[in-house]
Amino acid sequence: MLTDKNPHIKTVFSTILFFLVISIFGQQIPFTHNELAGIQKPANANNPFSLREEVFDAFIKMQKAAALEGIQLKIVSSFRSFERQQQIWNRKYKKYTAKGLSPEEAINKIIEYSTLPGTSRHHWGTDIDIVLDIPNPPSSLLNARNFEQHQPFYPLKKWMDAHAHNYGFELVYTNTAGRKGFKYEPWHYSYVATSKKMLSEYLTYNTISKLDHKKTLGSTYLSSKFIINYINCNILEINPTLISQ
Ligand SMILES: [Zn+2]
Repeated sequence: MLTDKNPHIKTVFSTILFFLVISIFGQQIPFTHNELAGIQKPANANNPFSLREEVFDAFIKMQKAAALEGIQLKIVSSFRSFERQQQIWNRKYKKYTAKGLSPEEAINKIIEYSTLPGTSRHHWGTDIDIVLDIPNPPSSLLNARNFEQHQPFYPLKKWMDAHAHNYGFELVYTNTAGRKGFKYEPWHYSYVATSKKMLSEYLTYNTISKLDHKKTLGSTYLSSKFIINYINCNILEINPTLISQ
């Protein structure tokens, strides 16, 4: 019996009960649709990169370990909002159509590297683009060539190949022969434990329906065939370790 005579036990009991309820129900709280589409910032993202707390903690551990071996990891892109992705999309759409590409051609060109707003893994607060922090970096940072042997970011690639998975990170867009979808991105890593769950949930929810056709240029040209192909290739042709079996 918990009585007023043993308030300490009562407090301890209430605290245990509180954390038990949080841990049971906390597991079941799904990611909101707005979080999955980048309309809302990730929960617990109180760090300079707006990454989810567990992702940020894991990154800091990895960054410290790399630094001990003389490898300075630098995040150049982390959480990105729906709005920001829309700006990137529209800028590229204008650039390519101004060069004479048809809307469909412009869209296919954009999706070599960039996503439709609402479908970026950067919306989730689980994914990062990283480079090596060096005094005179190449002018075009996110270029796969920089990560090749004898090139400036090769030490980072070598270190990440050997250690990233120990900190929970995996490359998303691998250099696997025959892989469709986004091109090889040796800079883009994902925190597997969280992003795997988010991808599963994302697939049950059509974020493409969040597109505002007045604000996303060329979006009226997206046929249902295009969207099915986009999901099968651009969303799902990734490192298989990031997909729940
Ligand atoms: Zn990226």
